[in-house]
Amino acid sequence: NEVLRLDGVSKTYAKDGPAPVEVLRGVELTVARGEVVALVAPSGAGKSTLLHIAGLLDSPDSGRVLLQGRDMAGLSDRARTEARRRELGFVYQFHHLLPEFTAAENIILPQLANAVPQREAAARAADLLGRVGLAPRAGHRPAELSGGEQQRVAFCRALANRPALLLADEPTGNLDPETSDRVFDMLMTLVRETGLSALIATHNHDLAARMDRVIRLNEVVA
Ligand code: ADP
Ligand code: ADP
Repeated sequence: NEVLRLDGVSKTYAKDGPAPVEVLRGVELTVARGEVVALVAPSGAGKSTLLHIAGLLDSPDSGRVLLQGRDMAGLSDRARTEARRRELGFVYQFHHLLPEFTAAENIILPQLANAVPQREAAARAADLLGRVGLAPRAGHRPAELSGGEQQRVAFCRALANRPALLLADEPTGNLDPETSDRVFDMLMTLVRETGLSALIATHNHDLAARMDRVIRLNEVVA
C-alpha cells in the first residue's frame, strides 16, 4: 500500500545545451501509507528537484511517478493540478501564509477552493489549530505571530484538505534550534494523529532519526 513511488526517476537540467546538469539518476523511492520518511541530502544533491517531481511541479526525463498507485505520466495540466490540490500537502522552509488573512482564514481558504463547505472548513481549522496549541491565536494575522507559530499555522494549512501525502522541505529550517525541535515535535504529533504519510527533507540528522526511515540522496557522480 504505497502512497508514493518513484521508479527509476532521472532528471538532467539544460539537457540540450552545452552544459547539461545531471541531478537525479535512476532514483527509487517509496513512501508507504502512514509512513514518515526523511530525505537527507547534501546541498546540491537534488533534494528540491526530487520534491518538485514528487509534488507534480516538474516531470522526470525518464522513470515513473505513482501517487496512490496512479501513474502521473500523461495527466493533463488540469488533472495534475487537481491531484496536487486533493492528494498532496506542502510545507516549505518559509511559511508563505497570506499576510492579510488571519491564521484560521489561511487554513480555511484552501478548503473552500476544494469545495469543502464553509462550516466544515472552519471546524477543521479550529480543530487543527487546537492540536498545535494555537486556538487562542486563530484570529491573529501572520505578522502578529512568532516564527514558530507561523510555521505551525502552515502545517495546519497543509493538512486542512486531508491529503494522502505531506511533502516538506526543511519545514523547521528557518527557526532557531530550540524552537525547531519543539515545532518539529508538533508536526510529527499532527502527522501521527491524522495517520498521514510524509516525505520530509532535512539537513538535521537528529530530526531525521525521529522518522520511520531515512533515505539518503547522494550527488550524481558524472
Ligand atoms: P538541492 O535542493 O539538493 O540543493 P537542487 O535540486 O536545488 O538541489 O539542485 C540540484 C542541482 O541542479 C544543483 O547543482 C543546481 O544548481 C542544479 N539546478 C537546479 N535547478 C536548475 C535549473 N532550473 N537549471 C539548471 N540547473 C539547475
Ligand atoms: P475520528 O473519526 O474519531 O475523528 P480520525 O482518525 O478520522 O478520527 O481523525 C482524527 C482527527 O484528525 C479528526 O479530528 C479529523 O478531523 C482529523 N483528521 C483526520 N485525517 C486528517 C488529515 N489527513 N488531515 C487533517 N486532519 C485530519
